[in-house]
Amino acid sequence: MQTHIHPQLAGRSDVKEAEDILRACVHCGFCTAVCPTYQLLGDELDGPRGRIYLIKNLLETDTIGESAAGHLDRCLTCRACETTCPSGVEYGRLLDVGRGLAARKVAPPLMQRLKSWLLRNVVPRHWLFKFMYRTGRLLRPVMPGFLQSLIPTAENPHFESTSINQPQQRALLLGGCTQDVVTPGVNSALESILTHGGVEPVTLAGEGCCGALQYHMSDHAGGLARMRQLLDRLDPILNDVDVVISSASGCGVTLKDYPHLLEDDEVYSHKAKRLAEKLLDATEFIDTMTPLPCETATVAVHTPCTLQHGQRLSGLIERVLTRWGMTVVPVRDAHVCCGSAGSYSIMQPALSSQLRENKVSALQASGADHYVTANVGCQMHLDDLERRQSIDHRAAGGSALVVEEHKANQDRRQPMKAEPGPTHIRHWLEFLAGQLS
Ligand code: SF4
Ligand code: SF4
Repeated sequence: MQTHIHPQLAGRSDVKEAEDILRACVHCGFCTAVCPTYQLLGDELDGPRGRIYLIKNLLETDTIGESAAGHLDRCLTCRACETTCPSGVEYGRLLDVGRGLAARKVAPPLMQRLKSWLLRNVVPRHWLFKFMYRTGRLLRPVMPGFLQSLIPTAENPHFESTSINQPQQRALLLGGCTQDVVTPGVNSALESILTHGGVEPVTLAGEGCCGALQYHMSDHAGGLARMRQLLDRLDPILNDVDVVISSASGCGVTLKDYPHLLEDDEVYSHKAKRLAEKLLDATEFIDTMTPLPCETATVAVHTPCTLQHGQRLSGLIERVLTRWGMTVVPVRDAHVCCGSAGSYSIMQPALSSQLRENKVSALQASGADHYVTANVGCQMHLDDLERRQSIDHRAAGGSALVVEEHKANQDRRQPMKAEPGPTHIRHWLEFLAGQLS
């Protein structure tokens, strides 16, 4: 796809990168068929190929209208289109550049700006997020439905670790700013599995945020600053550990991308590469371990987009669980996003709720005794299924336009039959630690 960059944008390294990505696209449209927003809305401009045209136009004219910016905002950044693209178009990176440029031209509605500001300024500040989350749990019974739906009700389990005399390896566990507050049971589970396998876990007090949330919400400078802060904290202890493990795939996909995002930074590109050399998702590390004795069970897996499309580790949770003695049953439309997508459930509640309903129905139709996932965002979004389904119908009223579009496109959706099933979805590490015998 040939592009004539607007003189105002020529010379920018991100624009040059976007131009190179655009050149790889051959307009075949294979990506459109797998796009969740295209499936829901039926508009070419709410699919990857349409969005690619909108970004091309933005690069050529250095202008964008509200309507076009809305099509970019409705993208989940699930990257299912990247997995499908035969030409290797790096759509996720292109969208990051496009959204960053669009944010200079179009101011979102006041409520969207307020939500965006709160997310970018509260979640990455661990102490503030912890305070607000705990206060929110206390006040949840008197909150409006759409706020209630953001606060999980499940209690966090704790898993016992065992002492190790001569560890085979030392592993630095990353807690992440959200997971550490909302689902601390995940790293407790990981510690339990590792210690039972002879691996010594190490944690870093005051670890901080990886910058993913700010970066993907078009605050590139703020996101990059967080990445540099985290690298400053991690770099001094990298020599003392054999591996760095991320148990939140949403953080892991960005951490693995640090060398690319910081490649123009002379100081931090080196630190980013040092981290990347030791970084593994928990799934990858446990795949290297000898399976421990476990109680067997039947499990359905929802693999987060950040793991299957972002980190290209599709099918790995299923493989590990099978090796550890579980029966894994298939889930319909497993490649489709659940609607969590970082901040998406807050910024685009109507589309997000529809995707959650579809995912819940697909999980329930699997017939499994347990549902698992691998990222705190998906877990919060899908957990407590029955309660959320009743709240969703009230919460979805936040975007009348999109709801109308949904109604107009009802015939495009395949009806899914929901069967009764488990009411909770857990992180797969919590599930596995609970099965250790
Ligand atoms: S599948 Fe790839 S090459 Fe084809 S239209 Fe989509 S992005 Fe372009
Ligand atoms: S990232 Fe996901 S929602 Fe966005 S265009 Fe690609 S498939 Fe569609």
